[in-house]
Amino acid sequence: MIATIYTESLDQTNLLGFNRYAIETWFAQRGYKPFHGRNVLKWIHKHGILDFAAMTDVGQKLRSELSVVATAIVPKLLLERISTDGTRKWLLGLKCGSSIETVYIPEDGRNTLCISSQVGCALNCQFCATAQQGFKRNLTIDEIVGQLWIAVRQLGAQRFTDQITNVVLMGMGEPLANFDNVVGALDLIQDDLAYGLSKYRITISTAGLVPALRRLRAVSDVNLAVSLHAPGDELRNQLVPINRKYPLAELLAACRDFITGDKRRKVTFEYVMLQGVNDTDNHARQLVRILQGIPAKMNLIPFNPFPGSIYRCSTENDIELFRQRLLQGGIMAMKRKTRGEDINAACGQLVGQVLQASRYKFGFPSSNAEKEGNGIS
Ligand code: SAH
Repeated sequence: MIATIYTESLDQTNLLGFNRYAIETWFAQRGYKPFHGRNVLKWIHKHGILDFAAMTDVGQKLRSELSVVATAIVPKLLLERISTDGTRKWLLGLKCGSSIETVYIPEDGRNTLCISSQVGCALNCQFCATAQQGFKRNLTIDEIVGQLWIAVRQLGAQRFTDQITNVVLMGMGEPLANFDNVVGALDLIQDDLAYGLSKYRITISTAGLVPALRRLRAVSDVNLAVSLHAPGDELRNQLVPINRKYPLAELLAACRDFITGDKRRKVTFEYVMLQGVNDTDNHARQLVRILQGIPAKMNLIPFNPFPGSIYRCSTENDIELFRQRLLQGGIMAMKRKTRGEDINAACGQLVGQVLQASRYKFGFPSSNAEKEGNGIS
């Protein structure tokens, strides 16, 4: 892709994060009909055009005005890594100098884009590489949606849904701690003029922010994934410290309520398999007990070690025994395939590696699947 550098001055508005209503209003305030706004929105997200001058069916007068008062800016692609299994990971630079990760995971019949919602994370889950970086800030709507914009272009797709069938908010950060911007981004992800993805193909993953989870239900009906990782409060307090504030009983009640009224829905529970910590037969039995009555799927995630982590992944055999016990208890359980291991595809790993190795200087170890950033900014 040809590199194009876009600059933004203080009095220019970045239209990238504007949803249909916001862009119509913004245009109306400048004396233009709402359809001009919708047209620009479509150029930006559907056609991938960030340069107003290239929006050929937008009138000359409007184009010139836009180039003075507005911009359309996406994060800067710093690095792309492509795994031998087809998984791709992009390291994206933000204006503030921080970076985030976006991962593309192609599978048979399902191609998932895993996006970030914050720079770092404040929740301090003990087994998570992002937690080690601490929390910097929430991503803005344009930075969340910019990840989709870049993914489509890097994949060379004509239409978003040609290459990407699912979007999961399972990258860096806690999406429900950035509620307004995440909900704002969901609008664009679902809008036919932008990315046009069905609510059934979008999943928000949370460590369990109960009040926000209840608020989410009122405004959106995307899929829910909950990072469980322990069947009891004592262990969960250690592994997922937000549990001290919102203990399991409250979390599971909110999960139940989230899907009440829609018989097709299930909550996906994520459970990272940590050897000798949460992977015994007793843990599995306890899980079966606490999940009684909740339509659920359980994803068993092999722990992905990173430098400095104190845990080890459970053995293949123990994961399988654990899975069998859940199945016997009536819980649909599967082991998540590990993808992109050769490119550090797990959440937070690449940024973590970069911070450690180069203190922001991007001196990556070379890899034949690695390409330098293409200067999209
Ligand atoms: N904050 C959200 C989303 C980000 S993490 C959440 O907690 O759900 C996405 C998933 O990856 C979570 O289930 C998280 O617990 C898990 N995860 C984090 N670090 C991991 C690691 N090193 N190995 C395996 N899974 C990990």
